[in-house]
Amino acid sequence: MSLSPTKTLDDYLADGHTPMMAQYMAVKAQHPDCMIFYRMGDFYELFFEDAETAARALDITLTKRGRSQGDDIPMCGVPWHSHEAYLSRLIRQGYKVAICEQLETPEQAKQRGGAKAMIRRDVIRVITPGTITEDTLLPALQHNYLAAMAQAGGESAIAWADISTGQWWVETLPPGSLTSQIARIMPSELLLRASVNNSQTHIPDGVTCSLVPDAAFDSLQARQILSGQYPDHAWNTFSAAEVCALGVIWHYLTQTQKGNLPMLLAPQRVVTGQTLEIDPATRRNLEITQTLQSQRAGSLLWAIDKTLTPAGARLLSARLAAPLASADAINQRLAQVELFVRARTACPRLLATLRGLPDAERAVSRLTANRALPRDLAGLRDALHLADDLHAQLQKLPEMTAIWPDIFAQLHQPAIVKALQQNLQRALRDSLPALLREGGVIAQGYDDTLDNLRRLRDDSHHLLLALEQKYISLSGIDSLKIVHNNILGFYIEVPAKRADKLLATQGGDPALASVFIHRQTMANAVRFTTLDLTQLERDLNGAADKALAHEQTLIAQIVADSIAAAPDILRIAAGVATLDVTLALAELAVSRNYARPIIDGSDNFKIAQGRHPVVEAALHAHGGQAFVPNDSNLSAGQSLWLLTGPNMAGKSTFLRQNALIALMAQIGSFVPAAAAHIGVVDKLFSRVGAADDLARGQSTFMVEMTETATILNRATARSLVILDEIGRGTATYDGMAIAWACVEYLHNAVQCRSLFATHYHELTDLEAQLPNLTCYTLDVKEWKGDIVFLHTVKAGTADGSYGLHVAKLAGLPTAVLSRAKTVLAGLERTHYLNPSALPLFDAADPHATPEQPAYITALLEKLSQVSPDTLSPREALETLYDLAALCKDNA
Ligand code: ATP
Repeated sequence: MSLSPTKTLDDYLADGHTPMMAQYMAVKAQHPDCMIFYRMGDFYELFFEDAETAARALDITLTKRGRSQGDDIPMCGVPWHSHEAYLSRLIRQGYKVAICEQLETPEQAKQRGGAKAMIRRDVIRVITPGTITEDTLLPALQHNYLAAMAQAGGESAIAWADISTGQWWVETLPPGSLTSQIARIMPSELLLRASVNNSQTHIPDGVTCSLVPDAAFDSLQARQILSGQYPDHAWNTFSAAEVCALGVIWHYLTQTQKGNLPMLLAPQRVVTGQTLEIDPATRRNLEITQTLQSQRAGSLLWAIDKTLTPAGARLLSARLAAPLASADAINQRLAQVELFVRARTACPRLLATLRGLPDAERAVSRLTANRALPRDLAGLRDALHLADDLHAQLQKLPEMTAIWPDIFAQLHQPAIVKALQQNLQRALRDSLPALLREGGVIAQGYDDTLDNLRRLRDDSHHLLLALEQKYISLSGIDSLKIVHNNILGFYIEVPAKRADKLLATQGGDPALASVFIHRQTMANAVRFTTLDLTQLERDLNGAADKALAHEQTLIAQIVADSIAAAPDILRIAAGVATLDVTLALAELAVSRNYARPIIDGSDNFKIAQGRHPVVEAALHAHGGQAFVPNDSNLSAGQSLWLLTGPNMAGKSTFLRQNALIALMAQIGSFVPAAAAHIGVVDKLFSRVGAADDLARGQSTFMVEMTETATILNRATARSLVILDEIGRGTATYDGMAIAWACVEYLHNAVQCRSLFATHYHELTDLEAQLPNLTCYTLDVKEWKGDIVFLHTVKAGTADGSYGLHVAKLAGLPTAVLSRAKTVLAGLERTHYLNPSALPLFDAADPHATPEQPAYITALLEKLSQVSPDTLSPREALETLYDLAALCKDNA
C-alpha cells in the first residue's frame, strides 16, 4: 500500500483501487500514525496493517476483503454498538484511533450521485491516550493528562491538560528537571517536537509520545490564538516558552477533536518552588501513587484514600504527586482538616451527601465536546442539587467562615446555575435512554408542544375515538364511524340511508352540512371529512418525527444552557472535590489516630511515635501484630542518623515511614504519629532497595549510583534524604568506601536532614568525628537460638547483621547454613580467608540434613504417649491444652 498525504482520492482511483479502498487510503494517508476505524454499516472495519495489529491486540478474527494490487487485503471489524470496549483496549495499549464516520446515509448518497455513488466519509475525531473524554475509556479515579514540552526564549516549559475535567496548567522547567516533572505529571500522552532528537528525554513506561510538526511550536502565533480564546487572562505574565507549550496542546486538540473541542478553563501557571520536589526514583521507591509493580493497591494513595467522589480521588492523587512547599499554604489546609476533625457530628451528613455525588467535571467536558449522554445531564442535575445541599450544610458550621471562607465562594451557585439546576429538575425524565438522539429524555409536562406531539404520536386511537364521539353527538347518527384506508386516509362513514341530514344537496341540516364535507358516495354508505379530521390526520402523520425533532431542539437548548454555565459548574465541582479531600483527610485522621503536624520554616524534623501508614494499614487489615511506633529527631545537632541493625529488623520501614510522614504533612494531612514537628522540606529524596533497569542498559549498581548521584548533586540544606544500603551492589570495600564518603558529604557539604541505613558497621565509628551524626539501631532479642525482631529504634549500634539467622528463617539448606557459619567464623578472625585453610565442604556432613527443632521432637514424643482409647473426655481436653501450649510457645 503506497500512501502519500499529497495524493487525492482520484489519484488512488487512478492507481486502480476500488472506490472504497481509494477513499480508505486517502483517509489513512492523512492519519498515518492512527488506526482507522472505517465505518461500514453496523461495523467499524480496519484494513491492512491496522487490521493485523488490531486483531492481535484485541484477539479478534482477521479476515480478508478483496485484493489490492494483487494481494489479499487483511481486514477485521468491531461492531459499532460495542466499539467503545475495543477502543478502550487499544487506547490503553497506547494506540491512537481515527474514527472515520459515514457522513450521509446510502439513500442520501444515491440522491446525490446516482446508484453507484460512494457514501461520503471523513475522520470526525482522533482518539489518543491523552484526549479521551468517555467514562468507559477513562480511569475514574485518576486525571488523564495530555502534556507538551516546548522551548522558546532560552527557556523550557511543560504544559499539561486534562480535557476530561477542563483544567490545564503550565510551568517553566528549571534546568535538568524535565524528567522529574514528567514523572510527577505522569501524562498518558506527551507531545514532542517532531524535528528534535528526543532520545535523551527519559520517558516513563506508560507514556505515549506523539510528534507534533514544528509549525505548531510558534509562540507568537500561540499567544495570538490563546489571547483570542481567553481575552481577559493575564497573558503578559506567561513566558514565551509557557505560551508555546500551551499553544502546542491547543493545536493538537484542534487537530484531533475536529471542531468539537471540550471546554478548557483559562490555563493556570504553576510557579516552580511552590511544590515539594520529588525526583522520579524517589517517587517510585516510596510507592506514592502506585507500587513498584504499577498497582494502586499497596501504594500510599491506596492506604490513605478515603474520598467518596471520583473528582476527590483525582484531587488527592494530584496533591500527593505535588505536595506543597510553603508552610502557610500547608497550615491553611491542615486547619481546614482540623475543622472537620473537631466538627465530627456534622461529618456523617456531609459524607452521605458526597457519597451520591456524580462526576460533574467529566459530564461538563462531554457536554462541551458535543459527546454528552442523557446520564451526563442527569449527573449535572444531581451534582448541582447536592452541591447546593453541601453549601447549606457548611453554612451551619460555626467556624467555617473564619477558617475556610473560600469554600463558600467556590460552592456559590449564581443565578445562571440555579436556573439550569431548576430547569434540569423539571426537564429530565426519571428513567433515561442511553443516547440523547433516541428521544425520551424530556419529561412530561415540561413543554406543551412536545406533550401535544407525543400525545398525537401515542394517543391517535383515543383522539380519533374522541372526534368520532363528538360527531356522533353532533349529528345524532350513532352508526357514524371514522375509518381509514390507504387511498382516502381518514374519513367519516355514515350509512347511506342516514346520510341525507349531512348533505346540503339532499336538504340536510345546513349547520351539519357546513361541518361535514362530502367525499364519496358508495352503494351503502356515504363518506365525509371535516376540517378538524384533515388537521388531525396531518398532525398524526408527522407526530413521531416532529416529537423527536422538537425534543432535540429542547435538548439542544438545555445543552447550550449547560455550556453557558460550564465555567461556574467546573468551579463548583472543584470546590466539592476540595471538600471531599478535606473531609476524607479528617476521616483518615480520626479513624487511624493521626496527629496534626506542626509545620514551620525551622529545620526541625521531630516525630514522636511515628508509624508507616501503609505497613500499619496492611498489618491491621490482616489482623496480625500491631505496628511498633518509633521516634525520630533530625533537628539541629543530630541531623544525620546512621542506622544499623539486623536484616528484617525494620530499617527500610523506618526510613520510608519518615519520608512518607513528611510527604503526608506537606499535602496538608495529619500524620501517623503521636506528634510531629517538621520544618518544610524543599526536596525529598529516597533511595531504598535495589533494582536494575535493563531496558535502559543499566545494571543494579549503575542504577544505585545514578540515583545516589542525583541526591548528592541536588539536595539542599532544607531537603530530607533517605538512603538505604548505599554501596551494596559492588565489592565490599568499594561499597563501604562509597557509603563512607556519602555520609561525610551529606554531613559536611549538604548538611540536610538525613536517615542513612547501612550494614557496614564500620561506618558507626564516624559518630566520634561527625558532630551531627548519631547512631541508632533496631532492637532484637535472641530466643532459643533464634532472633525475635522487636522493631524498636534505639540509640547505639547493632552487634551484628544476623544475616545467617534470616537466611535460616528463609529456609536456606542446613548444609549451606552450617558451611556459611564456618566461613563467617574464619572471616571474623582474619578478615581474609584462604579457601584452602578451611576443611572441605562435605555434603555427607550430618549437618547437611535438616535439623529438627527441639519442640517438634517434644511434640512428637508427647503425641506418641497418648492412647486415645483410654482417655477420659477431661484427660483428652487437658492433653489438647498441653499440646496447644507447646505449639504456642514456639510459634
Ligand atoms: P533488610 O536489612 O533485610 O532490608 P530491614 O531491616 O530493612 O531488612 P524491613 O524490610 O523494614 O527490614 O522490615 C522487615 C519486616 O518487618 C517487614 O515485613 C515489616 O512489615 C516488618 N516491620 C518493620 N517495621 C515494623 C514495625 N515498626 N512494626 C511492625 N512490623 C514492622
